[in-house]
Amino acid sequence: MPTRNHYRKTWLVTGGAGFIGSHLCERLLEAGHGVLCVDNYLTGSRDNIAHLLDHPHFEVMRHDVTFPLFVEVDGIYNLACPASPIHYQRDPVQTTKTSVHGAINMLGLAKRLNVPILQASTSEVYGDPEVHPQPEDYWGHVNPIGTRACYDEGKRCAETLFFDYHREHNLEIKVARIFNTYGPRMHPNDGRVVSNFIVQALKGEAITLYGDGEQSRSFCYVDDLVKGLIRLMNTTAETTGPINLGNPGEFTMRELASAVLKETGSSSALVEHPLPADDPRQRQPDIGEAASRLDWRPSVALSDGLVPTVGYFRDLVERGLA
Ligand code: NAD
Ligand code: UDP
Ligand code: UDP
Repeated sequence: MPTRNHYRKTWLVTGGAGFIGSHLCERLLEAGHGVLCVDNYLTGSRDNIAHLLDHPHFEVMRHDVTFPLFVEVDGIYNLACPASPIHYQRDPVQTTKTSVHGAINMLGLAKRLNVPILQASTSEVYGDPEVHPQPEDYWGHVNPIGTRACYDEGKRCAETLFFDYHREHNLEIKVARIFNTYGPRMHPNDGRVVSNFIVQALKGEAITLYGDGEQSRSFCYVDDLVKGLIRLMNTTAETTGPINLGNPGEFTMRELASAVLKETGSSSALVEHPLPADDPRQRQPDIGEAASRLDWRPSVALSDGLVPTVGYFRDLVERGLA
């Protein structure tokens, strides 16, 4: 696998105070790089990066990526965007603006600096997929006017912009299609299934299964995902993606609930709630591209990744923060 030289660089991480972004900032600093973290704290928090604030090569800027940004960096990881359905549906117009205007501004910045830029895209570009598992050449099955469209179509348009900047301006782009990711620093109230189930189990509350709980997802531990993002960024210019990054281990929500009950030692009951609109029935990444182009495969099984994740939420619950 061809990779670039590893001298110290300064990376811009937009959305760097979020769940995935904070882990990415941490890994880049550990590798000896400098990081400029840009975030408007819509869904992220200073707590996620508090442990990095004293690092001599870490800088934070409060900024909304829907507005232009003039800084000097060696490369851009564009993660800024609310990611959970509850968060991105709260202000759907702003969600689309963040994906689209945010992409235009970060692409304009990358173009002026002539530096590589990575887009945190999503498996949601496949919508409610008719092909299973989903390979990168599947065009998707998205409702353009549904309640998830602000996110799905925003991310699809961002991918379009990335590829047009690449074709029109020869910009070096990397598009990662991230599948469901979990781990410490997930937002406790963002309504995502892993955080909901763990917090409910720890508090002895009923586990909320939406629908019959037979819909499936594939869950990737955040450390694996971040390694994949960095590996993709470090490829040479021919590798643009899109590349799926996720763990192919597929579980129904009922199976996830059992795994969470086991890890937490809880005896919470399962209660069925209505299935949200346009909720994809099944999802599993085909990671053949990531395996062959990046030599990347996730290594953390769900049962192992749940241990530190439950530990994180147990601490929040004990401190009354979840
Ligand atoms: P998150 O909500 O924890 O992080 C997003 C960060 O972006 C937050 O810190 C938020 O404050 C910031 N942000 C939002 N709008 C902004 C704006 N206009 N300007 C500046 N900052 C802004 O979510 P996450 O799970 O860490 O997701 C990070 C990225 O990965 C997102 O782009 C998301 O779409 C993508 N992704 C995540 C998953 C997942 O399972 N977590 C799956 C697919 C794709
Ligand atoms: N931009 C930015 N920082 C830069 C350069 C550009 O935020 O360093 C923004 C700028 O607001 C512009 C957008 O990126 O609207 C797209 O830039 P591009 O050069 O592609 O287009 P143009 O400036 O011609 O609209
Ligand atoms: N889900 C659930 N109970 C919850 C939260 C979510 O059964 O308390 C289901 C949800 O309907 C979906 C799956 O879990 O089928 C994953 O939901 P999440 O919001 O985490 O991610 P996404 O739908 O974006 O993949």
